[in-house]
Amino acid sequence: MRRNQQRMRSLFSKCFRIPYRIVALVLVVNGFQYFIAEGSLAQEQHNRLYRADSEIQRVTYSGNHWVGYPSLSDDGNVIVFQEEVRDTSMVTGEPRVKRIIKAITADGKNQQVLFTDSTVHAPVPYEDSFLLVGTKPPLVSGDGGTVIFALSLSSPADMKDHVMAVVKTDASEFQTITFTNEMLSSRNWNRENFESDSWARVANYAISDDGSLIACVVKGHFGPVAYGSLSGIVVVRSDGSEQRTLLAPRFENDRWTWNEFPRRPLTGGGWAFALTGAGETILFGAQSSDERTDYDLYTMKIDGSKPKRVTTVQDRLFSFADISADGERITFFYSGKKGEGIGTYVMNSDGTGLHRLTSHVVDRLDYDDVTDSGDKVYFKSVNGGFVFDINQSHEVLIFDRSTPGYVRSGVDMDFPSYPSFWAPDFVSRDGHTVVLVGVPVGKDLAELFVLTVGKLKKTLLICPSCGNRMDPSWKYCPYDGTKLE
Ligand SMILES: [Zn+2]
Repeated sequence: MRRNQQRMRSLFSKCFRIPYRIVALVLVVNGFQYFIAEGSLAQEQHNRLYRADSEIQRVTYSGNHWVGYPSLSDDGNVIVFQEEVRDTSMVTGEPRVKRIIKAITADGKNQQVLFTDSTVHAPVPYEDSFLLVGTKPPLVSGDGGTVIFALSLSSPADMKDHVMAVVKTDASEFQTITFTNEMLSSRNWNRENFESDSWARVANYAISDDGSLIACVVKGHFGPVAYGSLSGIVVVRSDGSEQRTLLAPRFENDRWTWNEFPRRPLTGGGWAFALTGAGETILFGAQSSDERTDYDLYTMKIDGSKPKRVTTVQDRLFSFADISADGERITFFYSGKKGEGIGTYVMNSDGTGLHRLTSHVVDRLDYDDVTDSGDKVYFKSVNGGFVFDINQSHEVLIFDRSTPGYVRSGVDMDFPSYPSFWAPDFVSRDGHTVVLVGVPVGKDLAELFVLTVGKLKKTLLICPSCGNRMDPSWKYCPYDGTKLE
């Protein structure tokens, strides 16, 4: 949807043969002239666009299964992903889906099954039911060694994403973690008619680069009525030990009661949530005052100290956010109307340097991923995939239909997609390895590919004469005939 709007708008502005895409309309109403101008976006600080010497290689050969939700290690060598086998039962005729979590090396040579639906019994007290892959993507630690993902229970039906799985990428040391609500376990919860003292489900999660530490947004309980909304942030060692609650309400007078701010670290579908490389700082969204929509991004130390509000938007409409490995930089996508409005923003984590990225390639930069350093932002346009390099102040075309290995099957290759509010991680630390999805010729469903981003070519994608954005495939400027490249 948002990409269609982008496409419409960029076609629209290309139709005007006016330098610097100043679009002006003159309306004559009752003899008065109203001049409506959509201001000039032209004179950016950066005006260079490059093309990278890249290539694409296919990684998965799934038959015709659905594959997706990739997570890439920092060195770009390990991809963890979800595979779904859909078939129809011979007995009942009902469609069945079996989900599998897999790890594969980026060259596609070594593949390992880490988990398959209905092969492991749920932990007590649900040991009669089986574990199923949950609704959230798997995550691999930066060092490529540890994988975490949510698991649902085959029954009862309300036990979605109730358990977290932790497993090594060689499929060893599989274990499950259930999250205990300390606010309930410290009380006489069964006398208050709670079925258990555990959190109902894990809503978002992040893992430190060495795989030792996991931070989660958790929500819900198994009480007789809702008692208002319940959510919290919990950290745990990946061996399941030292579970600790960082942010949660207390249960008082039949209500979940917050005594201080920030509170309610998620509402509705989920929230922006991320962890620094060494796992010392968490980035999350939370409510700042009693005003219902007063939300902003916060950082907090892993020991629960120093919660710090880093944005001042006072609006819930962040759709995702990430913090750099060193904790210095924050990138987020804001989809509301405050400040400069909808778009991708970058800032320092001390609250300074906030600005919205403006691109020569797209009218609105909807970011798909950002490197661990926080200085390279990946986004897609109709022409292909691009990187906005913040330090170098330029944009680079990293793949398009002319990139060696590009699959021309009628469906454009793209960056992978994820559930809403999920911070993707499909780019290696150095930014040179990127996971793509593409539908091979003769198939219905996408497979995973690896894009290796090579040297920059000095292809100018802006007309040096008139300053208009050029399609990378154009040989001459359509406005003034200047030869490009
Ligand atoms: Zn020109």
